Amino acid sequence: MDTRTDAKHALGEPRVLVSRAALLHNARLVRRAVAPRTRVCAILKADAYGHGAAIVADALCHFSDGVRGTGGPAVDALAVASIDEADALPDVAVPVIVFRPVENTFLGRQRLKLDLAIRSDWVLTVCSPAAADDVARVALACGRRASVQVMVDTGMTRSGVCAEGLDDLLRRIGSRPSLRLVGLCTHFSNAETPGHPFTAEQLARFRRCTDIMIDPTDTSITRHAANSAATFFLPESHLDMVRPGIAVYGIDPLGRPCIERALRPALRWAAPLVGIRSVKRGTAVGYGQTWRAPRDTRIGLVPVGYADGYPRCYSDRAVVMLHGRAAPVVGRVSMDLTTIDLADVPQATVGDEVTLLDPDPLSPASVYQLARWADTIPYEVLCRIGPRVKRVAIDPEEPDDARSLLIHR
Ligand SMILES: *Cc1c(COP(=O)(O)O)cnc(C)c1O
Repeated sequence: MDTRTDAKHALGEPRVLVSRAALLHNARLVRRAVAPRTRVCAILKADAYGHGAAIVADALCHFSDGVRGTGGPAVDALAVASIDEADALPDVAVPVIVFRPVENTFLGRQRLKLDLAIRSDWVLTVCSPAAADDVARVALACGRRASVQVMVDTGMTRSGVCAEGLDDLLRRIGSRPSLRLVGLCTHFSNAETPGHPFTAEQLARFRRCTDIMIDPTDTSITRHAANSAATFFLPESHLDMVRPGIAVYGIDPLGRPCIERALRPALRWAAPLVGIRSVKRGTAVGYGQTWRAPRDTRIGLVPVGYADGYPRCYSDRAVVMLHGRAAPVVGRVSMDLTTIDLADVPQATVGDEVTLLDPDPLSPASVYQLARWADTIPYEVLCRIGPRVKRVAIDPEEPDDARSLLIHR
């Protein structure tokens, strides 16, 4: 997929603008937080946390010197949740890991997908001997060796083989010549609470059960555990590789802006102001007439609604940014449209650009603030931004990006 064409097609429409420079800055911050020998695997699941996986993969792998095509990739690997997500990535020169465990291989299309994954040499995650057998069989049939990693459940109690079953699973993998074990990993449940004893406990369990299974000097097997939070708060967990997701997008894993870490949010959600209407004091706005103008004012219309992932609970609660001012969302957010009060933005005119999600971490419309209004975490705010909203890469500017830059200035 060519990530550059989007810029042209998205003029005057609701758009997500993704700063490559911010992504690269964040990747460098992560890099600086780990030892030189520790690899960095950027997590691009869920369409790169709503940023657009093609754009993010392209930025991280092809722009490390700030321009296209020079320098090596800014990260050492990319990871996604599913084979479909791996398939949606552009061509990259780093390994791609698929984290959702292989299961139910012989149900429908799964076999074809496994076939594709093995031919593409994506790393597959297996958590049971049966899954290992399934992957081995498909690999044999396509005449390739499949790279697999094992997820160990050390206390998250979600996916993964439990420590007691690891021995069995590794022996099964070892007995299948069409499989190559390339990784052992685990996932933390409480890493977002710095110093939480359970994270150390999970790491100790992971170490204990993997130290006895593999030769720790065997560099062909990558051991990894740390998400963004553990990358920052538990250096002992870095092992051979870290797996930051949210930090790459510039969001602090603690869910609030952090001065010391200086991550830069990469995403701005913008939309044009498509209408302005003057209303008299007392006029009701929107479904259910939940808001009435307390004075004569102007109501602005933004073509984004809950179908785009701008949640209905923002009705009469959120603000958007316009001319550097916060304009409150008034009346109900509907499926495709949102109304804002322009009382404090007298200079607003139709065609102006409204910022629904501001990359400034201290903005009243920051992702942290949006998460608070929706009673959730920044991850969900980002992932919810719907497919109807175009994703556009900016910064560093490329020839095809230029027109898109012009209009949001
Ligand atoms: C999503 C995910 C990550 C990244 O987590 P962040 O908190 O976004 O850094 C790492 N590892 C696995 C297995 C994941 O599913």
